[in-house]
Amino acid sequence: MTPAMQNKEVLMQVRDFSLLYKTRLGPLSAVDHVTFDLYKGEIIGLVGESGCGKSTLGKALLRMAPPQAELTGQILFQGEDILQFDDRRLRDFRGRCVSMIFQDPMTSLNPVQRVDQHLVEAIQVHEPHTPAQAALERARSLIGRLGIQERRLRDYPHQLSGGMRQRVMIGLGLVLNANLIIADEATTSLDVIVEAKLLDQFRELRDELGITILMITHNIALVAEVADRIAVMYAGQMAELGSVYEVFDAPRHPYTQGLLASVPTISLNERTELFKMGGEPPNLTHPPQGCRFHPRCSQALPICSQREPELRPVNGGQLVHCWLYQNHESQGAS
Ligand code: SF4
Repeated sequence: MTPAMQNKEVLMQVRDFSLLYKTRLGPLSAVDHVTFDLYKGEIIGLVGESGCGKSTLGKALLRMAPPQAELTGQILFQGEDILQFDDRRLRDFRGRCVSMIFQDPMTSLNPVQRVDQHLVEAIQVHEPHTPAQAALERARSLIGRLGIQERRLRDYPHQLSGGMRQRVMIGLGLVLNANLIIADEATTSLDVIVEAKLLDQFRELRDELGITILMITHNIALVAEVADRIAVMYAGQMAELGSVYEVFDAPRHPYTQGLLASVPTISLNERTELFKMGGEPPNLTHPPQGCRFHPRCSQALPICSQREPELRPVNGGQLVHCWLYQNHESQGAS
C-alpha cells in the first residue's frame, strides 16, 4: 500500500486472481495471479501495451468473461466475492455498484433510443417500482450535473458529440449510484479538448461524490494528469504499482522505465530519436519461463530466465515485480 492510501477505505480487493482462456493452442494465461486493492474515491490508471491483459482484467472486475474462460482467485467487493454471485446478484451488482465505459459509446448506446429513454430504462430495470416520472426527474438532475443541457435528453445518440455521448455513458453508471466506474480507453477516440473536459469530469466525480475510477489506457502520459495511483501490467501480470509521483519520479521496473522513455516530451526536436522498446509481448499460450519480460529486458540477471520474482514493496510503498529489488543470491541462480 502506498503511504497516500493508508487511511483510505478499501472498495475492492483483487486476490491472486487469474483468468485462463482455453484455446486450440492450449490454455492462454491472460491474467496471472494478480493482487491489488481499489480504494474509495481514488482514480487509478491501469496501463500497458495492447494485449497485456488490462482490458481483460477491467472486464473481469464486473465478472465479464467469455464462457470458456476459467476464473480463479477472489474479487471482493465490499467484502463479498463477486466470483461466487448467482445471476440475480450479479445483475444487481453490475448496475448498482460498478459500471463500465468503453472507447466507442455508439456501440453501447441504442441508436433508436433517446437519451432520456436510456436513463429511465436503466432505473426501471433495477428499480421496477420507480414511476417513470420520478425516474425522468432523476435523469434530469443527473444530466445537469454532467454538464449536458436538459433539452439534449430528447436527442438520439447520433445527435450528440463524442464527448457528450461519453458523459451519457457516465450518467448511465451514476443513475443507480454506482461507486466504481471502469473507463476502458474511454477518451481514446476524443480530441484533446474534449478529452481534457472528460478528465475534469472524472476529477469532479472523485472529489464531489467519492467515486472510484479505474482508467484503463495505453497512454501513460494521460494517467499522470488525473490519477492518484498507477498500475502497470505486462503479459497478464502486475509489473509495478504505486502513486503517480512514485512511479513517474522513480520508475523501478525496466518495463515501466521503457514505457516512460517512449513518451514524447516538449523538448523533443527533429534530431532526437524517441525511445522504442525492442521485442514484442510474449505469446501467452507459452509465456517465457521466469520473468515474462526477460527476453526484452536490458537489465536481466541470470535468475530472470529461471525463476519468477514476486510483487514486493520497494522503499515501503511502490510494489515492483522484479529481481533487481529482491534478494536473488539465495535463490539458486546459475
Ligand atoms: Fe528484467 Fe529480470 Fe526485472 Fe524481469 S526480473 S524485469 S528480466 S531485471
